[in-house]
Amino acid sequence: MKFPRALRRFIVGYLALHLFAAGILVVVLTGMARQQMLTAAQDRMRAMTSMLVETINELDGGLENPDLPGYVKSIGDETKMRFTLIQNNGLVVADSITGVRDIGPHGSREEVVMAKLNGTGFSERYSSTLDQPMMYLAQKFTDPAEGKVVGFVRIATPSESINSSIASIQRYVWVFAICLSVVTALLMTLFSAKSMEPLAMFSSAARKIGIGDYQISPSVVRRNDEWGELSEAFQHMQTELTRREETLIENGQRLEAVLSSMIEGVIALEPDGKVMIANGAACEMLSLTRPEIVSKKLLEIVRIPELRTAIENTQKNRTYSETEFKTLTKPQKTLSTRVSILADNNKPGVAVVLHDVTALRQLETIRQDFVANVSHELKTPLASIKAYAETLRLGALHDNEKNEQFVHQIETQADLLNRQIHDLLDLARVESGETNFTLNDVNLNVTCQSCFDQFRVIAEDRNLIFETDFTNPGPIVRADADAMETIVKNLIVNAIHYTQKGGRIRISTRTQNDESIFEVSDTGIGIAIDQQARVFERFYRVDKARSRDMGGTGLGLAIVKHLSQSFGGSVNLQSSLGNGSTFQVRFPTTVSRLKSNS
Ligand code: ADP
Repeated sequence: MKFPRALRRFIVGYLALHLFAAGILVVVLTGMARQQMLTAAQDRMRAMTSMLVETINELDGGLENPDLPGYVKSIGDETKMRFTLIQNNGLVVADSITGVRDIGPHGSREEVVMAKLNGTGFSERYSSTLDQPMMYLAQKFTDPAEGKVVGFVRIATPSESINSSIASIQRYVWVFAICLSVVTALLMTLFSAKSMEPLAMFSSAARKIGIGDYQISPSVVRRNDEWGELSEAFQHMQTELTRREETLIENGQRLEAVLSSMIEGVIALEPDGKVMIANGAACEMLSLTRPEIVSKKLLEIVRIPELRTAIENTQKNRTYSETEFKTLTKPQKTLSTRVSILADNNKPGVAVVLHDVTALRQLETIRQDFVANVSHELKTPLASIKAYAETLRLGALHDNEKNEQFVHQIETQADLLNRQIHDLLDLARVESGETNFTLNDVNLNVTCQSCFDQFRVIAEDRNLIFETDFTNPGPIVRADADAMETIVKNLIVNAIHYTQKGGRIRISTRTQNDESIFEVSDTGIGIAIDQQARVFERFYRVDKARSRDMGGTGLGLAIVKHLSQSFGGSVNLQSSLGNGSTFQVRFPTTVSRLKSNS
């Protein structure tokens, strides 16, 4: 187990403190012990000096007694102490070690000076005479007869024994203190290690939680102490975190679901313009993938000035901005955009909501073009009618040669106008789905034959070879018979209009892959490839003058296309300029209803 640093520091500190305390204890204890030993030694020495003073006082001549040095030596030998007799003037009378009467004046010795003052003096010092540390005790003695101080008795004993006792006491105390410190530190370490055991588990669990793994299950510390409480708190925290994470995930999923189900594109930007969230619709509208956009700066990827201005204005004015722009991608889209503030801080993020209004704008353009086209188309015959009418009014009415011709022209233009309006209304009804078709099983052979019969004379008048090629049985289509006839007629009329004399027009029917097909093909002027898709648009004519001359409204193919689609069909054109055209109309077939009716 890794030992906590704080605990290591504590144990080192504790050891140092413990040893410091032990040091103080040693000093105090040994000081006290020494003091006691010294006191005992002093008492003993004082008793000896008192005894010697009494003996001297009993001797004849006191200090002057000639046997005194011998006596002093004998008690010195006996007691293993040094006795020195010093006269009041400091001269040594006797000394148990040296035995010499005069060993130099001793009156200035510390203990003697103190004895002069207090009666008794004590000192400790190193004796150069005996070459070892000594304790000295001096006591003055007074001549009982005269009552005055006559000298001093000094007793000296080595302090070696006290010092060595003290040293050994110190040793023992130190050893004991160090052992105690080490044992305590060891015990403390072991105890701490044991009690810190769960810490490793908690720290590993906390690390895992830190990287988002809330599912770990640290074994519960079943103790009745703080660890137990911590364990409980930890588990509670885990449960809470798991719950919150689940809620967050759930919220995230809900948000994701809502965003991805939206048809509007939603982009959330951070204050620095980086994309936080972008839903699928937004990516699709901008023709980008999510990794290409998320966490990138939107305006660096989508370089649209209108969008930049809207975002900057929103951030600056803390309001919303609306704009519309065209994408730079192909196919180009028109996006209507609303930018609003996302959060209320210093430089707020923004939410960009995109609507794809491409179809709407296209419809608007178509509508505007349509209105312009209709006006233009209706104005042309009207202008002719007005011109002829004016000419008549201004005199031609009485011109018998021209008046009939002009009235005929007025009639022709009025017919064209009428047809145009009629066709327009038909087309509008078909497109809006308002036409009330009567659905029947229509045999294409019957319809095509009927139309063929109606136009045969006209075609022959124009020197056209007009023929049919019907499959047998005739293909059946679920459709309105009149509408089906309109489709076929429009195609035949065009074929007649745009085929030169001597040309050939063929109407054919067939069934192929469950489809009922009829074709009107001609060997006429044909249509260039780039015009082929456009001829189905309202009022689109390849050659406007020719179409008008032919009495065309420019709506025939648009009606064909929309009527065919009403019955689930489609129109195809195969043509090339100068080589004729084939218009093919296909419908789904009801096979069981195929009949022989050619
Ligand atoms: P229109 O009344 O002018 O014929 P349509 O919608 O029927 O109007 O046809 C649109 C245009 O398509 C015509 O003006 C003509 O230029 C071209 N077109 C239609 N049918 C044919 C055809 N069979 N051959 C050549 N061009 C054709």
